Amino acid sequence: MICAANWKLNKSPREAEAFLRDLRRNLSIDHHQEVIIFPSAICLMLTGEVLEGTDIGWGAQNCYFEKSGAFTGENSPEVLRELGATHCLVGHSERRSLFHETNSDCAKKVAAIQGAGMVPMLCVGETLEQREKGQTNSVIVQQLREGLQHVHLEKEFWLAYEPVWAIGTGKVATPAQANEAHLVLRNELTAVFGASKARTVPILYGGSVKPENAHELAQQPELDGFLIGGASLQLESLLKIHSEANR
Ligand code: PEP
Repeated sequence: MICAANWKLNKSPREAEAFLRDLRRNLSIDHHQEVIIFPSAICLMLTGEVLEGTDIGWGAQNCYFEKSGAFTGENSPEVLRELGATHCLVGHSERRSLFHETNSDCAKKVAAIQGAGMVPMLCVGETLEQREKGQTNSVIVQQLREGLQHVHLEKEFWLAYEPVWAIGTGKVATPAQANEAHLVLRNELTAVFGASKARTVPILYGGSVKPENAHELAQQPELDGFLIGGASLQLESLLKIHSEANR
């Protein structure tokens, strides 16, 4: 199982460095497991330095889709790659709701990230209102289709299913709800890109994953890993989720 830690706008460089040094000392990863840290952009360089020579992966929470130019405040995939990042999140629900990112922006970012030699992780998920109206499947399918519009099929990409109502709320999707949504996404990948490609795309679940619910969720056949927000900020809970997910 993959355990990806989305730190959002948390941890100063000093705090991030101390955490990562502890993580290095305390984490053991088998060959079929993956741990990836997504710190804030300002902590990326030190993350690469501290994690160098380990099997712990790391990446960025966001980037712009242009290589360079007059885009104040942005970072390009090329710059992130030069630092050593291997992955980049795209379309996290906070980016969509707070920073007005559209599916079309996501599509450009996915292609640009792949073009720079990194792996994009496209995040999709419905709001509570959409779920209650029975729109979950159509919403996540549309986000997938439009977000992967320009994807380079010969290159790797990942998905994360993150129901908006479960992010940072303490409300977790039931294992059955999560598995059902993942199956919808997998079937859509199969319909659009064919079964052999669809099988290779990891789909992570995110939304209030904790040590207490990780094992049961991880048993679901369609879940390939977790994208963890709040519970990834404490070393102990991240380590516990990693061990529960892989038990
Ligand atoms: C996230 O931000 O991607 C997330 C899943 O957050 P949390 O685990 O805190 O719900």
